[in-house]
Amino acid sequence: MNTEQSTTPPNAAAPRETLQGDRLCMQCLHPLVGRTIERDAGTGLLYVRCGECGTASALFEYPTATPWLNRAKSVIASTLAITAIVALLALGGVTGGFMGGASSEACDAAGVELSLAFRSSLDEQAKADPQIQSGYWTATHDQWLASPAGQDALVNARFGVTALVPFALITALGTAIAAPLALFIGIALTRQGPLRRAVYAALPVVLAAIVVWSMYYALGSRVAMSSWTQVAFDHYLAGFTALSTAWFLAFVAATAALAPSIAAFIARTILPPRDRRLVAWLWEWRGKTVPRD
Ligand SMILES: [Zn+2]
Repeated sequence: MNTEQSTTPPNAAAPRETLQGDRLCMQCLHPLVGRTIERDAGTGLLYVRCGECGTASALFEYPTATPWLNRAKSVIASTLAITAIVALLALGGVTGGFMGGASSEACDAAGVELSLAFRSSLDEQAKADPQIQSGYWTATHDQWLASPAGQDALVNARFGVTALVPFALITALGTAIAAPLALFIGIALTRQGPLRRAVYAALPVVLAAIVVWSMYYALGSRVAMSSWTQVAFDHYLAGFTALSTAWFLAFVAATAALAPSIAAFIARTILPPRDRRLVAWLWEWRGKTVPRD
């Protein structure tokens, strides 16, 4: 065949397609865009001929802009790493904030419950006492707290509806915000195995818990706004904080450990088998094969 084929088509009647897209000549790196697509008569394979050096480049199996793909991959990889770090920090902030928020709100509510129980226990004479009426803390309050009625009220206020409803609602809200972060971190750590995923994701929660607990120890009595809230803080804060710390630790660790399985299940549910190669890493990074059913 002749080398002038690309510039002088032998059959002008047949429509000639030109190459589109970013392909470079393998020989001289000259862009091949706009070159006429030829078909080799012997083999039937498609190729384009470089306008600079005349080298023929097969269109089949020709690496398309590989350097750009590799660059894009490294950009995606570093973006993913930075996003994962940001997600870890955010997870610490969210869980720490909601741990402290849920337990202090529960104590506030329990404090109100205690003060109501105290007031209802007073006889007419005590209710008329201006000092008790004005809300100043007196020996009467301490005597009542130490009495069987006061001890009962302390037990009842701990797990009463008044305290548990705000505790559960704030914890649920924090869980809803932490869930996508834990899922993302778990998926980003797909290669690490379930135990490491759980440990890495739980790390910021542990740090957040340390901050929250040290804050409570450092601030001590200064956080409470009223004497009844103070009583509630003294009796309940550690318990509620322990409960929310345990919950967030367990939730984040379990979510991160299960995240790749959850993502793979969702991908399998919504993607037909031939489209799953886009997210094949969801299975391959865990040493599994992409399901074909
Ligand atoms: Zn060339």
